Amino acid sequence: MLHVAMKLTRGLLLTLFVMACFGQGTAWAQHSRVTIGTGTSHLDLSPRVSYHVDADGAADATSMFELANSGQFRPLPRAAATFGFRTGAFWLHTRLFNQGNSEQRWLLLLEYSLLDNIDVYMRYPDGRIDHLASGDKLPFSARAIRYRQPNFWLDLPQSTEVELLVRVQSESSMQVPLSIYTFGAFAEMERDVQIGIGLYNGILLALFFYNLVLWLSLRDSSHFWYLCHLAGFGLVLFCLNGLAFEYLWPQSPWLANHAIPLTMCLAQMAMHQFTRVFLQLRESWPLGDKIARGFILFYALVGLVSLWSGYRMPVMLATYAVFPSVLAVLLQSFHCIRLGYLPARLFLAAWTMLLVGTAMYASVSFGLLDKNFLTEFGIQIGSAVEMVLLSYALAYRHADQRVLTELQVREANEQLERSVSRRTSELSSALEQLAEANSRLRESSRRDVLTGLFNRRHFREMFEQMLAHAHETRQPLSLLLIDLDHFKKVNDTFGHLAGDECLRALARSLNDCLAPESALIARFGGEEFVVVLPGAGEDRALEVAERIRRQIGAIPVHFSSRKITMTASIGAFTLPAGHGISPDEVLHLADDALYSAKDAGRDRVCVASLTAS
Ligand code: GH3
Ligand code: MG
Ligand code: MG
Repeated sequence: MLHVAMKLTRGLLLTLFVMACFGQGTAWAQHSRVTIGTGTSHLDLSPRVSYHVDADGAADATSMFELANSGQFRPLPRAAATFGFRTGAFWLHTRLFNQGNSEQRWLLLLEYSLLDNIDVYMRYPDGRIDHLASGDKLPFSARAIRYRQPNFWLDLPQSTEVELLVRVQSESSMQVPLSIYTFGAFAEMERDVQIGIGLYNGILLALFFYNLVLWLSLRDSSHFWYLCHLAGFGLVLFCLNGLAFEYLWPQSPWLANHAIPLTMCLAQMAMHQFTRVFLQLRESWPLGDKIARGFILFYALVGLVSLWSGYRMPVMLATYAVFPSVLAVLLQSFHCIRLGYLPARLFLAAWTMLLVGTAMYASVSFGLLDKNFLTEFGIQIGSAVEMVLLSYALAYRHADQRVLTELQVREANEQLERSVSRRTSELSSALEQLAEANSRLRESSRRDVLTGLFNRRHFREMFEQMLAHAHETRQPLSLLLIDLDHFKKVNDTFGHLAGDECLRALARSLNDCLAPESALIARFGGEEFVVVLPGAGEDRALEVAERIRRQIGAIPVHFSSRKITMTASIGAFTLPAGHGISPDEVLHLADDALYSAKDAGRDRVCVASLTAS
């Protein structure tokens, strides 16, 4: 399983492999013969394989058998059939000797999925040569068994030496790890590998659908680009381990050869676009954004070119660009962390996991670490953790944005509340002012401007109510009409302003005299005033009228250092309890009394009575 898994991920690290495979091994296998003992069920052929490079790819099998047998083939460097990107045909040769193993039918497995043309020649002792062919330039159905890697049935009779010659030509990296298995051993090995691949793809698929649902519900484009990256990366590995050819396009050798550069470019374009959106690079770091866009353009061009060009050039370009690409993403993350953008930390952690996984895997190739589960599956583990962390980072970013939005909404609400309460208090104070102004207006509409007493209109309203009330409560009511005597003369003598002052002084006198009474005092017009005394009978009315008259005559008015003495005539009328007559009649009767007072020589009080009228 480990061995197969190593091959699965090899495509991602072509650079490292190219470097690794040039380190030449020293062991020279003197005799390239593989002995299959009785208990053997699986054998790695590489240590016993020798090889020859046919530069123009024109040689045929017969000449190569001869060349191999004359010792012209060389052992594999480091006993591994890994050569990097090479042109021409590679011929590999060994002898298989079945020494008493009861199993005659063996499966030859070429544990690298991307080879274009593979020809297997078996030469038996009787000179017969069997020829079998496979590779992804042929449809998937050309394979011996339905399996993601090229495979061939070998017939290995007991106590017989069979020569095996394999010719490989490919635009992909030249990796030819040859193994033979009994069918039972193959089934066991494959079971473990399938579990590993299933687990890995299961994680990617679960994350894919989880984020697909999120994207559909949230409509946040970062989920979409994450999905593209995840799908692209998953497809690259799916192509590399041969499953894409087996399950997705078994009839299409064209896609089998073009899918890798296309998916590599898609994965990396999506990675940069995802980074742009997630880190909001356009706003946070325009230079970083430009770099990301540059990479996207580069991969888009490489992807386009790969549609027409061969496989090798675009794959090499895309592979070499992986490292600067990831470096750019790390730099962009660092920059955003320094700017205080918290979700960038998880983002950085995710990509670091992928790098650590890749580095662990690569360090085995350089002999820095031993092979173990973690190092063999470094890229798968690293990328799975990376995908999970990125998915978590997206969720974290959403939560972060939600908190921010809630904060903004709360602040906006508070501000709204403040401005509403400010407006409300402004409004209520305006309303208060308005009410005050209204009441002032109402009051002033009832008052006489010069004296401040009630005016005639208000008097009339009140008087009607008082009359009705007196009638209802069966109480008497008295009315006094007060008119200044010869007031015209005052005006003529002292001037109009002095006359005004006399009217004000009279109002003050009335207020003073009537303070203890619950009387209604009003200016009736000109120099004529009216007083209503509710509940007062005739005696009481006379008494009050006399008091008023005396006070007017007693207190002179001072104006411009001059003294003005005034007198007044008063007409009084008392409506006895229980009588109901109209306001005009009352006024009329009082006016009659006033005239009587004038006629009688002024400065006196005259009373009108109901019977007299
Ligand atoms: P009598 O004793 O018969 O009442 O004589 P009189 O002069 O007081 O009566 P008359 O009705 O002829 O004149 C009233 C005068 O009152 C006339 C007018 O100029 C004056 N008068 C009315 N209203 C005002 C006012 O608001 N201010 C001033 N200064 N004078 C006023
Ligand atoms: Mg008058
Ligand atoms: Mg008068």
